[in-house]
Amino acid sequence: YVAKQTRTGVHVYRPEDDQDTPRRLALLTDLRIAVEQNLVRVAYQPKVDPATGQVVGAEALARWTRADGSVRPDEFIPLAERTGLIAPLTEHVLDSALTACASWRRAGHPLSVAVNLSPQMLTDQTLIVDVVERALSRHDVPATALTLEITESGLIADPTHGVQVLHSLRALGVRLSVDDFGTGQSSLSRLTELPVQELKIDKSFVEDITHHPARQAVIAAAQQLGHALGLHVVVEGVETRAEFDHIRDLGCDAIQGYYVARPLPQEDFLAWLESWTAARAASLTLTGHHH
Ligand code: C2E
Ligand code: MG
Ligand code: MG
Ligand code: MG
Repeated sequence: YVAKQTRTGVHVYRPEDDQDTPRRLALLTDLRIAVEQNLVRVAYQPKVDPATGQVVGAEALARWTRADGSVRPDEFIPLAERTGLIAPLTEHVLDSALTACASWRRAGHPLSVAVNLSPQMLTDQTLIVDVVERALSRHDVPATALTLEITESGLIADPTHGVQVLHSLRALGVRLSVDDFGTGQSSLSRLTELPVQELKIDKSFVEDITHHPARQAVIAAAQQLGHALGLHVVVEGVETRAEFDHIRDLGCDAIQGYYVARPLPQEDFLAWLESWTAARAASLTLTGHHH
């Protein structure tokens, strides 16, 4: 933190307080235009079943490039959340994701797609349920092939009301996932009350896992908890072969991370999927020769 001299004296400068700097105002103006004109792109990161190597789905991740370079989601998503742009942005990401998912399914790949929901989207029940229902009606994708990821902290922000919204979303047939699991403040008993089908263990527990017995224990425990509750367990942020092998051996249901693939533009996804599937078939054939 930097101490800043002002008329009222010295105070501590925190970046999160700095909401009206020229850069922020310019960002906000550009983001508003980008959302209005559908200039925010969506990238897709595959999720793979580590036991079989089969691709089971992909997460849709918003991407925004301005004239002077790309802006990270960690910067523009919170800005959108504070300025009412998150609802139209979410609708655009949902539409893009369902368009992509429908095209994969037409090409013979029965994948699911996951979209991130900001906690703000859960505070207005009719809004989010309508947005999701309308998006599903525009595309030839079954509701069961859509997963909505909500962070653990977002799920406990407004417990009673939030749970009602989750039940309404569930009634549409979509799947619900707890994102960044392990980083929030939720009690384990709260988790059992949520109508969710999936736990996504946060990537901070994967980093350097082979050298950190404590992280190994946390992942193993989170995974056992998820399975005991009948949930699908996904581990995100897997970057290396060693991490992949370690997590596969724990028995999780899906792995997402740079080791499998970085988030890909929609136009590259099918080509990646076909080459991954061919490589997997080739490696299975090779193993087959030994039997
Ligand atoms: P998230 O939902 O937890 O998404 C996973 C993040 O981890 C993504 O960052 C992804 O690119 C990154 N990642 C995936 N594999 C690896 C890996 O092996 N190593 C490392 N170091 N990182 C990996 P990204 O795309 O920068 O997004 C950051 C966050 O922004 C997301 O975290 C999500 O919370 C938010 N976000 C992105 N798109 C949207 C959106 O459309 N709507 C909302 N509400 N939030 C979004
Ligand atoms: Mg996510
Ligand atoms: Mg996450
Ligand atoms: Mg995150």
